[in-house]
Amino acid sequence: MVEKLIIIGSGPAGWTAALYSARAELSPVLFEGPQPGGQLTTTTEVENWPGFPDGIDGTEMMSLFKKQAERFGTKVIAEQVTSVDFSERPFTLTTSSQTYEAESVIISTGASAIYLGIPGEERLSGKGVSACATCDGFFFKGQTIVMVGGGDSAAEESTFMTRFADKVYLLVRRDEMRASKIMQQRVKDNPKIEILYNTEAIEVLGEDRVSGVKIKNNKTGEESELYVTGYFAAIGHKPNTSLFKDVLDMDEKGYLVTKPGSSETNIEGVFAAGDVADHKYRQAVTAAGMGCMASLDAERWLSAQK
Ligand code: NDP
Repeated sequence: MVEKLIIIGSGPAGWTAALYSARAELSPVLFEGPQPGGQLTTTTEVENWPGFPDGIDGTEMMSLFKKQAERFGTKVIAEQVTSVDFSERPFTLTTSSQTYEAESVIISTGASAIYLGIPGEERLSGKGVSACATCDGFFFKGQTIVMVGGGDSAAEESTFMTRFADKVYLLVRRDEMRASKIMQQRVKDNPKIEILYNTEAIEVLGEDRVSGVKIKNNKTGEESELYVTGYFAAIGHKPNTSLFKDVLDMDEKGYLVTKPGSSETNIEGVFAAGDVADHKYRQAVTAAGMGCMASLDAERWLSAQK
């Protein structure tokens, strides 16, 4: 059987694409992938999703997205697509158990924050460990936190965090930051930010919540501890696009490239939405908007084929 539309990925972009496509009677099939619900399930409270003035738990929000998409007939498959063949139509997508065919595909596989991989980081994820100041900054009112990174993200996010936190330690692994001069200056001028150069985080400490970070000066070898309640990684994101290498156009960082003002990739009938094609905004609400665009683009493209 050839499906009209297959959606890969189950974050806000994927579920919104599914909702719109199901209501357009395309009977979409959605593969949830390795992290059902996507990045939002790694955060706790989401307070910037419009319509929820009291906030909503990230995991709960994604289960509501799923329920709404299923209500209109989305078929959800709790599997991961392991390979794709877009060289001819219908397109072929393979999971560990089966092969599927589709007339069109929406890719919404998202991006993943890069973490350092040090002890304590994964265990305390969502319990003081985060990679999204915009999402979680508010929970650190009056507290002291650590931010790791030396690029524009780290500069921007540590500046943002000073709206809430009393103090931000910015750990930069070299003796200078990579961030643009203007962003660096903003950080240096901020009395709430203390930059620790040549400093690496080596362990996140705490039982049930972050209570400190063990750090090391990579010039002197000296180790010490910072007593903080938050640990933020801001060392970059990586798009989940390894499946599409040498198949779809990507930028130098591996984000899918779409035609301006649309969700079309370089292969007709294959569309992209959400963080997988957006390194700039990376918000749930923008990803959802892109999912809607991809659904409308796919629907129009499918009708034009007839
Ligand atoms: P970048 O790749 O620019 O910077 C990553 C930073 O993390 C670097 O300082 C790097 O150190 C550091 N880092 C990487 N790995 C480790 C590690 N294992 N331990 C410690 N530190 C580490 O990523 P960004 O997310 O900051 O930015 C991505 C892109 O988005 C850039 O092009 C940036 O300009 C852009 N951006 C623009 C913004 C704006 O203009 N408002 C805001 C945010 C991002 P090192 O320097 O030593 O390699």
